[in-house]
Amino acid sequence: MEPSRNTPSPPLIFEQGAPGRRAYAQAPAATAQWDDLPLHLRRAEPPCLPEVSELQVVRHYTRLSQRNFSIDTQFYPLGSCTMKYNPRACNTLAMLPGFLNRHPLAPAAGGQGFLACLHELQEILQAVTGMQAVSLTPMAGAQGELAGMAMIRAYHRARGDHARTEVLVPDAAHGTNPATAVMCGYTVREIPTDRSGDVDLAALKAALGPQTAAIMLTNPSTLGVFERRITEIAGLVHEAGGLLYYDGANLNAILGQVRPGDMGFDVVHMNLHKTFATPHGGGGPGSGAVGVGERLQPFLPIPYVLREGETYRWAERADCPETIGRLSAFMGNAGVLLRAYVYARLLGAEGMARVGAYATLSANYLLARLTALGYEPAYPGRRASHEFTLSLKELTTRTGITALDVAKRLLDHDFHAPTVYFPQLVPECLLIEPTETESKQDLDRFVAAMASIRDEAVQAPERLREAPHHLPVRRLDEVRAAREPDLRWQRPHATPTDNLA
Ligand SMILES: *Cc1c(COP(=O)(O)O)cnc(C)c1O
Repeated sequence: MEPSRNTPSPPLIFEQGAPGRRAYAQAPAATAQWDDLPLHLRRAEPPCLPEVSELQVVRHYTRLSQRNFSIDTQFYPLGSCTMKYNPRACNTLAMLPGFLNRHPLAPAAGGQGFLACLHELQEILQAVTGMQAVSLTPMAGAQGELAGMAMIRAYHRARGDHARTEVLVPDAAHGTNPATAVMCGYTVREIPTDRSGDVDLAALKAALGPQTAAIMLTNPSTLGVFERRITEIAGLVHEAGGLLYYDGANLNAILGQVRPGDMGFDVVHMNLHKTFATPHGGGGPGSGAVGVGERLQPFLPIPYVLREGETYRWAERADCPETIGRLSAFMGNAGVLLRAYVYARLLGAEGMARVGAYATLSANYLLARLTALGYEPAYPGRRASHEFTLSLKELTTRTGITALDVAKRLLDHDFHAPTVYFPQLVPECLLIEPTETESKQDLDRFVAAMASIRDEAVQAPERLREAPHHLPVRRLDEVRAAREPDLRWQRPHATPTDNLA
C-alpha cells in the first residue's frame, strides 16, 4: 500500500487567526530599552504580523514539517550529501548552557574549556586525515575549498612561482571545485575519466606542466569508486611542481580506513555537517574545516587554537604572519564544531573505523541487490565506496522512463530520492548513498520499491511518468521556482506601509 500525504494545503499563517489573538511560548525575554532607539529608526506602524493563538502556531508549523521528507522520518539516500542520522546526544551536549551562553568575544582566559574542546577537535581531525594542522574556521564546504585553494596560491606566490595559472579538475568533480579554482583566479582544465571510473592517467600526464598549480580530487570520487592509482597521481603532480587538493566533503567511506595525508594530499577540507553529526540540507550552518600538510601550514586561516602547556589561546596574525587571514568573524560555527567534537569522542578511533566499514557495507549491499534486479552500475565490476552510481540509460532507451521518473516515483513509496543527473558524465544517473545508520530492513524496503518501479516501467509507464501521485504537490516547475520565487504575502487591499517586504 502506498501511504498518502495528499492532504489539502493548509491556509497561510497570515490567513489564520483574528485581531488581538496572541501566542506566548516563544516570546523573547526582551530587556532592550525601546526608548533608547532614535525616533527616525522606529517604525510608524506596527508590523503586519499574523495574529494567532499558540495552538494555531503549533498546528500550522507541525503540519508543514510533516509535508517534508527528513532523516527523522524517511530513508534519504541522497548521494554526495551523507544524509545520515545524527545522534541526539551530540546536539544535547553542544547545547549545554556554558557553551550556548558564551559570548564570541569572551576572552580566552574565560573560555578554556571551550578552547580545549576545539583544540582536541583539531587534533582528532588531524589524526583522521593524516594532516599536520587543522583550522576550524571555514563555515561551509565551499568556503573550506576557497581556503584550501587560497593557501595553494599563497604557497606558489611565496616561492616566487608565478607561472602556475592552471588547476586540474576531473570531469566527475563536484561543481564547487572548478568554481573555487576560478574564484582564486585560476584557469580550470578538465581531466577526463577513463572507462573504469578512474582518472585518465594519459590525459593527466599530458596536462601537467610548469603552469599546473594543483589538482582537485575527491577519493573516493563522486562516481563512488576509489581511485586506485592515487599515489602514482600524487607523485606525478608533485613532480610537476603542483599540489594536491582533497575534497573531503564526504569522509564517511574512509573514516578509520585510509587517510588523505597518506595518499599524498597537501590540503583537505572536511564537511563536518555531512560526516560529523550536524543535521544539514536547506543551507543551515555548516563547517568546512581545513587540514594541511607541512608545505601549507604557514598559510592556515586564523584563528585556530594553540596550546601552551595547560592553557589554550587563539592563534593570531603575529603567530603566523603568512596566514591567508580570516574567513569569518570569530572561529566559525561553534555549535557545529562542538557537535563534531562530541560525535568524534563518542565514537573513538574504533567507532570511526566502524562508520567507514558499515557505510561501505550498506552501499555494496544495495549495489548488489539492485544489480540483481537488473539496474546497471555505471562502472560494472567496481566496488562501491560510501555511494555508487547507476545508469538508467538502458531502461530509458527501452521504456522511455528516465532517472527523474524513478526518483519522483520513489517519493510515492515514502523514500527521499537519490541524487539524479550527477555526476553529469553518467547518462540517466542515480547516485545512491545509504549511509551506515540505516538498518538492513530499511535497505530491503528500498530494494522492494526499486523492484516495483522497475516492473511498473514496463507494465504501466504512464503511472511513472506522472509520479508523484501521493504528495501535496506533483511535478513542479523548478526553473520558475528558482528564477521567479513568489515568497511574499500581502494583505488584501494593502496600503504601502503595511507591506511586509
Ligand atoms: C557537499 C559537497 C561540497 C560542498 O559543500 P557545502 O558545505 O555545500 O559548501 C563540495 N564537494 C562535495 C564532493 C560535496 O559533496
